[in-house]
Amino acid sequence: KLYNQVQDLKGSIRVYCRVRPFLSGQSNHLSTVENIEDGTITINVPSKNGKGRRSFNFNKVFGPSATQAEVFSDMQPLIRSVLDGYNVCIFAYGQTGSGKTYTMTGPKEITDKSQGVNYRALGDLFLIADQRKNTFRYDVSVQMIEIYNEQVRDLLVTDGSTRRYPLTCLLSSVLLTSAPIDLNRAVGATALNDRSSRSHSCLTVHVQGRDLTSGTVLRGCMHLVDLAGSERVDKSEATGDRLKEAQHINKSLSALGDVIASLAQKSPHVPYRNSKLTQLLQDSLGGQAKTLMFVHISPESDAVGETISTLKFAERVA
Ligand code: ADP
Ligand code: MG
Repeated sequence: KLYNQVQDLKGSIRVYCRVRPFLSGQSNHLSTVENIEDGTITINVPSKNGKGRRSFNFNKVFGPSATQAEVFSDMQPLIRSVLDGYNVCIFAYGQTGSGKTYTMTGPKEITDKSQGVNYRALGDLFLIADQRKNTFRYDVSVQMIEIYNEQVRDLLVTDGSTRRYPLTCLLSSVLLTSAPIDLNRAVGATALNDRSSRSHSCLTVHVQGRDLTSGTVLRGCMHLVDLAGSERVDKSEATGDRLKEAQHINKSLSALGDVIASLAQKSPHVPYRNSKLTQLLQDSLGGQAKTLMFVHISPESDAVGETISTLKFAERVA
């Protein structure tokens, strides 16, 4: 309740930032992160006269020691609101290697502690649905899709086909009646496939709740999106397929930025039609829907260029 009031005051778009820790064996590197305090992150930016600094403000900044549980606990109210009939979109944005998949899914070998948002969100939905079972009857279904080169592919089709579905066609929904055990493979596998950094993957959870006394039906859905890597590809080096991929990624990430920025500015025209991703999520972006843009940065000083452009992207939609 309180959360919803806070949301109303601040608008329905939130921006979080997470800094990946140095990976093992990397201890001697210099960090670009000078300081993190509340929602402010300060970056060391190399400049002509030695050293410069730049600060960015977000709703929340998680430092390198933040745990998966801490990160999720801040997102929990948002996820719970799906059961109250809200639509929610969570985007993980950042350059390849910055920790997007770690946040959304987890590391390669996932333990209870290292489970990412996808697992925790589904677990939470089932837990709350169960707590409410005397007053509500919930049906939950999921879809897992990938967008690669502006083509949508269904990742839960069981015949292993690579059939492409037009956007107007209903993607396969698996009706879930209990905890998402069978989902584990689908949720995890996509994050690790070899082109995952060049495609957007989206886990969508549809929830329908019927009030057992009044018969009123509530519908909410949640999109958990692990975006393609935001790094700029050197146009002089990329050719052929790689160049085409880079152009599609570029176009769709800037289209997403444009949509969220115009929602944040309450602009009357929202340019949903400029990418498959924004077309697909149109009903869940804007209106009563809640959006979390979760940007990720790498701490290494040689990534500072990408780090600054990620933070500028985030600043624009905040
Ligand atoms: P991305 O999906 O953005 O390309 P990954 O999630 O694959 O990046 O992260 C790159 C590497 O860093 C992986 O080995 C991952 O397990 C590790 N990593 C990322 N974030 C964290 C974190 N917060 N804590 C520990 N390891 C992390
Ligand atoms: Mg990834």
